[in-house]
Amino acid sequence: MSHDKKCVVIKIGSHHTIAGFNNTELPQCILPSSYIKKGNDYIFGTINMLEECIDKYENESQQTLEIFTTVDENGIPYNWTVIEQQLKYIYETELKCNSKDFPLIITVPHLKNELANKVVERYFNLAFNKLNVPVFQIVIEPLAIALAMGKTSALVIDLGSSGCNVTPIVDGTIVKTSVMRSRFSGDFLDYIISERLNDLLKSDTFQMTDTDGDIILSNNDSTTRSLQTKDSIDIWYESNTWIQDFKINMLQVSDKELPELERYYKEQAEIQIRQQEQLQQYSTNNTEAKLDAAAIASITNNNPLSQKKNFLFKGNKNSKQTVSLELRECYQLSESLFNPALISDKYTKEDGLGEIIGKAIKKAGASVSSVGTNTVGSLGASMTIQPATNQSKNNNPFGSSIGGNASNNSTGGLNGGINSLGSSTTTPEHIYSTLLTNIIVTGATSLINGMEQRIIKELSIRFPQYKITTFANQITMDRKIQGWTSSVSMCNLPSWELAKWYTKTDYEKESNKDETKEN
Ligand code: ATP
Repeated sequence: MSHDKKCVVIKIGSHHTIAGFNNTELPQCILPSSYIKKGNDYIFGTINMLEECIDKYENESQQTLEIFTTVDENGIPYNWTVIEQQLKYIYETELKCNSKDFPLIITVPHLKNELANKVVERYFNLAFNKLNVPVFQIVIEPLAIALAMGKTSALVIDLGSSGCNVTPIVDGTIVKTSVMRSRFSGDFLDYIISERLNDLLKSDTFQMTDTDGDIILSNNDSTTRSLQTKDSIDIWYESNTWIQDFKINMLQVSDKELPELERYYKEQAEIQIRQQEQLQQYSTNNTEAKLDAAAIASITNNNPLSQKKNFLFKGNKNSKQTVSLELRECYQLSESLFNPALISDKYTKEDGLGEIIGKAIKKAGASVSSVGTNTVGSLGASMTIQPATNQSKNNNPFGSSIGGNASNNSTGGLNGGINSLGSSTTTPEHIYSTLLTNIIVTGATSLINGMEQRIIKELSIRFPQYKITTFANQITMDRKIQGWTSSVSMCNLPSWELAKWYTKTDYEKESNKDETKEN
């Protein structure tokens, strides 16, 4: 097969599905992965879905509309009937081509073995039996991201919507036992932002005005109380409208833990008070001179954390209201990703981002060194990817190209065929240092101001003797679609033999082999 063959690349995330062709810089479409069910019809696509929501709010339509997801809270696709409908919709209305005419690449997150088998089989069934694609490949997202950045070893931190995945990759191989996931990410922030704003709107004396300045809502109004009872449409609409704006304009991550930051500014204020007093003592020649209460208050009130940030809240009834939050509250909202215990005592700090990233690195050090992986350096090594052959280790007929294996001695899919350049036994310290100097931060939630610096800070506390280097795409759109563009890079590699492509005949052969083995 020629390497310049045009093919379709689709990334199915829990928030967005991104689809396009491998010969373009940007995808053809970015759609919500969820859909609206209206009677027996499925409504896909951002504009169509937003129109349905607006129609519901403007006409107070009584028709029951509900939003459903296709990917579960762990980022795993489960609603296969609808995924099929959605992919057909993408081919027909967005890509405007026939699925039979182009090879297809689907990007999946790293999945645990038992799940990977099921999900991969479903995808193969979908590709060959429902969409009738001629050739099909599955790409593991974190691996594609690392390889597309020219790295065979990296720690990929993907802050998405349903969760944050931390994937250590060593010598082109995902260290399966040390992949960690925190469920605290974009969706969790949506929830706490919505709760916080609801509390503010309930407690404040406020009036909302429409675009003509007429009062359409006050906190005595029954509609305000109904803000509490949201259905799935309201939740989806809010997450995709004002909550998005709120995240972009208001959220900030502090470079250190919030109590530490409070202490820092308090100390700064005390230093300033002492300096002012010394100045006063010097100018008045009175060694006992003290600042008066007003001067002290003015210094302490100057705390940067007390500065107000304003947000124009636009409700779903074309209403507007300015909401003011102190900077410390903005920090506090995103701080919950690092310390979820701040939100509820049901959660612990161990579930926070800093902890799970630290654990992933330590586990990677322990697992890779315990199986004696040899060291590999260059990208060239990662490019010798062979078809999967090691099926006795992995029951999935196609699965050795999915996931990864802690030992790079294995053959199979993306793991196999990596040329070992040396044969010295790897120590945990070597793995720590390799991962810490190759941290890739990706996923749209990582776009919150200050996120990268905070990740560096969290790691420098846990690994003080190591150099830490992060790589994050600085262009907003590029970071949002990085999973997709990386898969495009993978499928544009100079030879089709670099990764495993399957035809329907391969698929049937593998399935038959598998059935025979089972019998
Ligand atoms: P997953 O990785 O969980 O499968 P996904 O890949 O579909 O999900 P992303 O597109 O990486 O998800 O992230 C979506 C999340 O990022 C949403 O919660 C969205 O609100 C949030 N988000 C989008 N843009 C920004 C931004 N500029 N700042 C902060 N958060 C953002």
